Amino acid sequence: MSKTAGLYIHIPFCRTRCGYCNFYSVTNPDYIPNYLKCLFKEMGAYRRKFSRFDTVYIGGGTPSLLDIRQLQDIIEKIQENFILLSGAEITIEINPADMDISALKTLKDMGVNRLNIGIQSLDPKILTFLERRHTTAQAVSAIETSRGAGFDNLGLDLIYGVPGQNMKSWMDTLTQVLSFRPEHLSCYQLTIEPETPLGKRHQKGDIFLPGEKLGYDFFMKTAETLEDAGYTHYEVSSFAKNTTFFSRHNRKYWEHTPYLGLGPTAHSFIDNRRWWNHRSLERYITDIEAGRSPVEETESLTMEQLRLEAIHLGLCTKKGIHLKDFAREYDYDLIAEKGEILKKLEEEGLIAIQNGYLYPTRAGLAVADSLSLI
Ligand code: SF4
Repeated sequence: MSKTAGLYIHIPFCRTRCGYCNFYSVTNPDYIPNYLKCLFKEMGAYRRKFSRFDTVYIGGGTPSLLDIRQLQDIIEKIQENFILLSGAEITIEINPADMDISALKTLKDMGVNRLNIGIQSLDPKILTFLERRHTTAQAVSAIETSRGAGFDNLGLDLIYGVPGQNMKSWMDTLTQVLSFRPEHLSCYQLTIEPETPLGKRHQKGDIFLPGEKLGYDFFMKTAETLEDAGYTHYEVSSFAKNTTFFSRHNRKYWEHTPYLGLGPTAHSFIDNRRWWNHRSLERYITDIEAGRSPVEETESLTMEQLRLEAIHLGLCTKKGIHLKDFAREYDYDLIAEKGEILKKLEEEGLIAIQNGYLYPTRAGLAVADSLSLI
């Protein structure tokens, strides 16, 4: 393994489900103790394959539903089973309704150095529409409490393009959030997943999403506002105060760096192999208790699949694709093979080719999915 891997731990529990969410979680906390036992067994099964990590991301679901002792156990088990390199980025996702300053201080003492808080919006109407269980006041207080606990690396998640949300409501949220100078912001456009309650309402025609033009305007205005405020727009949805605060863990996914995911639905990747666990907590627990692997499927990616993924992932990031490294790694000269289409995209202002890199412009990032079809 040439690059140091990242570790993802899925905590598949939420107090209530938000109507738009497609992440896997259950609302029955009775499973938590058994789940943790199984999680620790799964960790042990990988200690030879993945010996060391320099990022850990505890996400969900809602990790902050666990009590502090349980979160401590997770960190301790990681340290028992693997080597966590010095200076590792250790992130935990927090729901603003679950803030507790003494628990946060304990997390900090345990080495957690980054919090990712699911703020989503500061507009009470939007929070209600999204069926979030926190209020605007709790969202603001969550940021203040995190600072009070000594966290100097805060990531805030926000959503725009919500039915009923206009540009003013979104800009109000963004302006208020900026007043806290978070180190990182993830601004996601709401996507409707067909299997969610919101998706079903959408199919019935009960709700309407902003059209393509308004969606594009939201994206461009967001990027402009945050870049004017000094943030670097380094991936489609990601902004950081400076390069120190780029999410090191997420970059593993974008750069084909190995990662290990533990828990239901978690994905892992190493060399050209990717595998993922069943999307069922009961199945996960039953499999592990019976000594079986919880993996649902494994795929081996061909060189061509890896190359296409690298184009897609590269064009979702501001850094883009380093043309010489790409040619060396995939035995493929992008300029020679795709010169004509690249020239057209450059003329349309969607990409730029400079200093050995092919990278998307802001307008290109807005349509990054279609760019990768080159
Ligand atoms: S958005 Fe977060 S809190 Fe809401 S259901 Fe999904 S994982 Fe749970």
